[in-house]
Amino acid sequence: MFDTVLIANRGEIALRVLRACRGLGLKVVAVHSEADRDAPYLKLADQALCIGPAAPAQSYLNQAAILAAAQVSGAQAIHPGYGFLSENAVFVEQVEQAGLTFIGPSSACIRTMGDKVSAKREMRAAGVPCVPGPDSTLPDDADAVRAIARDIGYPVIVKAAGGGGGRGMRVVHDEAQLAPALAVTREEAGRAFGNPEVYIEKFLLHPRHVEIQVLADRHGNAVWLGSRDCSLQRRHQKVIEEAPAPGIAPALLASVGERCAEACRRIGYSGVGTFEFLYEDNAFYFIEMNTRLQVEHPVTELTSAIDIVQQQLRVARGEKLAIAQGDIPCRGHAFECRINAEDPRSFRPSPGQITDWCAPGGWGVRVDTHAEAGYCVPPYYDSMVAKLIVHGATRDDALARLGVALAEMRVGGIATNLPLHRELACDAAFMQGAVDIHYLERWLKERAAA
Ligand code: ADP
Repeated sequence: MFDTVLIANRGEIALRVLRACRGLGLKVVAVHSEADRDAPYLKLADQALCIGPAAPAQSYLNQAAILAAAQVSGAQAIHPGYGFLSENAVFVEQVEQAGLTFIGPSSACIRTMGDKVSAKREMRAAGVPCVPGPDSTLPDDADAVRAIARDIGYPVIVKAAGGGGGRGMRVVHDEAQLAPALAVTREEAGRAFGNPEVYIEKFLLHPRHVEIQVLADRHGNAVWLGSRDCSLQRRHQKVIEEAPAPGIAPALLASVGERCAEACRRIGYSGVGTFEFLYEDNAFYFIEMNTRLQVEHPVTELTSAIDIVQQQLRVARGEKLAIAQGDIPCRGHAFECRINAEDPRSFRPSPGQITDWCAPGGWGVRVDTHAEAGYCVPPYYDSMVAKLIVHGATRDDALARLGVALAEMRVGGIATNLPLHRELACDAAFMQGAVDIHYLERWLKERAAA
């Protein structure tokens, strides 16, 4: 049982985790790069240790430095946040070997689910619906590969087994493109992910991105906390998320959710996690699992009334889940806007000093951020400076609140994507709900042409 947690991350999520630790009476060790030494949240920690220069490889991804920081500070547990080392099985193994608690699943689970092919195999075995296509990597034999693709039917998508971050994927529309696409993806995957294995599956034309949040303890219990729709994406990066996924029959969601919880029990998963699906024509197709806390977890917190990070800490401490599936509500509707320091038209990052900062407030409004007036956004990391999250009794109520909150929010000194969010929040199709994953890219193209 640990009483001191080292947070191996930065920015809003470091502060989010720090608050959850405090709520449970845990002590906090914050680590930071040289570039983040003046970050305001560091003052809230019991100890703050510098772990290296600005470059992520030398600080937030520096496994030896983070383990050394845990040792010297007396932290017995490490919370990885999201990104950085949160899904790195090698790091988790080292944490385990050092006798520390990793706040997340075991390295074995991360390894299984981090390989998209073995993840798909596990999910099929648990009865979770997957995208049509074999759950094995492709053979070298070109004839055999052509036969597999023909069997699935074009278009297909070639994906790297070890891929992530929207990279290592290629859509193939006909047989002539297949061999070259395979060669390029294999080469790219070997270089980027150290694993040249690839697989193929059906390419869905107009899917939505719908995901299921799960929570599991170390005693074989698992529940699902609801659904989210994250279809509004640009270059595979989520821009606005909502919970629950609109327009999907609750009974269908419940049956998929229960299968996800069952998959957790089968593989001995513990901690929080997300099953990502493509959803098209009333059917779910599993694409991957994220074995960590996600950026968009607050929308589920607002609809389920469960503090997901606190639960994550509790199960890591060995507590049994105190929540039964039947007690988890789905109350009202929530949205989250990712506020990035970037030009709203060119999307170029806009680091620098925030000179003016006004965060919205009031009933049903939550702002998760590490920024404030005077804060300097460093150029070395992800450009997200805040998450604006709103809750309402209905989707329309939440949308109205979102519009008010966006109008109230003010960030000066740097450019942000607030103007884009304001436009999207009153876009007719978005307000209607259930747009597909290509909607935002199409919308941006049309706007640029207008
Ligand atoms: P990553 O781990 O890189 O995020 P995913 O497997 O989650 O990769 O896929 C990322 C995105 O690529 C999806 O959100 C979706 O937009 C698109 N995609 C992936 N697989 C398919 C598919 N079979 N059909 C259509 N689009 C897909």
